[in-house]
Amino acid sequence: MNLTSINKELQNKKANSPIVIAGPCSAETEEQVVNTAREVKKINEVAVFRAGVWKPRTKPGSFEGVGSEALKWLATAKKETGLKIAVEVANAKHVEEALNHNVDVLWVGARTTVNPFTVQEIADALKGSNAIVLVKNPVNPDLSLWEGAIERIYNAGINKVGAIHRGFSNYAKKNFRNPPHWQIPIELKRKHPKLTFICDPSHICGKTATLLAVSQKALDLEFDGLMIEAHINPTKALSDAEQQITPNELAQLINNIEIRRNVLDVETPNLQEFRRKINLLDEELLDILANRMHIAEEIGMYKKANKIAILQSHRWDEILHQNADLAKQKGLSKEFIIKILSAIHVESIEQQNKIMNEKKDYKKK
Ligand code: PEP
Ligand code: MN
Repeated sequence: MNLTSINKELQNKKANSPIVIAGPCSAETEEQVVNTAREVKKINEVAVFRAGVWKPRTKPGSFEGVGSEALKWLATAKKETGLKIAVEVANAKHVEEALNHNVDVLWVGARTTVNPFTVQEIADALKGSNAIVLVKNPVNPDLSLWEGAIERIYNAGINKVGAIHRGFSNYAKKNFRNPPHWQIPIELKRKHPKLTFICDPSHICGKTATLLAVSQKALDLEFDGLMIEAHINPTKALSDAEQQITPNELAQLINNIEIRRNVLDVETPNLQEFRRKINLLDEELLDILANRMHIAEEIGMYKKANKIAILQSHRWDEILHQNADLAKQKGLSKEFIIKILSAIHVESIEQQNKIMNEKKDYKKK
């Protein structure tokens, strides 16, 4: 892909500052849109104002966006503040309407990126336009699907394309609303070094407390910028209320981010790069272990309720054999894998034992 750099267009003049796209999850009223835009305009780094006009909601019955009418409010906000405006498009009609209202940045949402038919429809509708298009990762952790969507847009003649990382769906919602699986965007970036990369910590975190840590990490991983949901009155927001912050809080968050442009030690760039990858993988390992222990606890509760003994030795035997064979296929030493699995198994039994044999409710400890 011969991409045109879009960083300058998305960035504020301030040299070397990251791209910051900010605005509410949804456009709700003209007043809310214009007031939020005025406030985020005061933040130096913000050059683009976002707002969802058509909202893809998981369940019917929730607020699904005000639709086309909100495009006029966004046009007003743009005129008043000079900020570029960004909206999500999910079909050809959205593209047509957004372009007719001079929307500068169109983004493809995570629930759309999963569907190549819809992405192609959007790509076809974009033909001939000069818009900037940002493609969010699909909800499922599939690098090719993400890459494919970007290629479909690019192949339609749009060379101002970028990617937004918003994390991936997960059955067990724990620390993150959408766990980041950083190795996926990192691999996409490795394959397409010229692609602009924006991180959306709002949808990764799903709550405000961890926004700074995730934003800092993204910038340390050489993302070009952030898309953060900001609302003039987050507690009253009609969608994603738990993850939105006020423009003031956004200003503080940005102030607290350390910009470390050249994170690689010039003397040992390769070593630094390897260490970074190892750290990421270690973190993934810990996440996987935490999830595994969580399931073991649930098994413990099930066994307790159904009066089933903790150790089912045929099951343990099955786990050992299955994984010893798999380890061999993956070029790992059998002894090493048996050691690791045994340690995990002992810890799982420990957890189940606690649940099954403690008088008190283990959750109330
Ligand atoms: C959004 O940006 O408000 C949104 C719906 O995002 P996603 O497609 O990442 O869920
Ligand atoms: Mn949202």
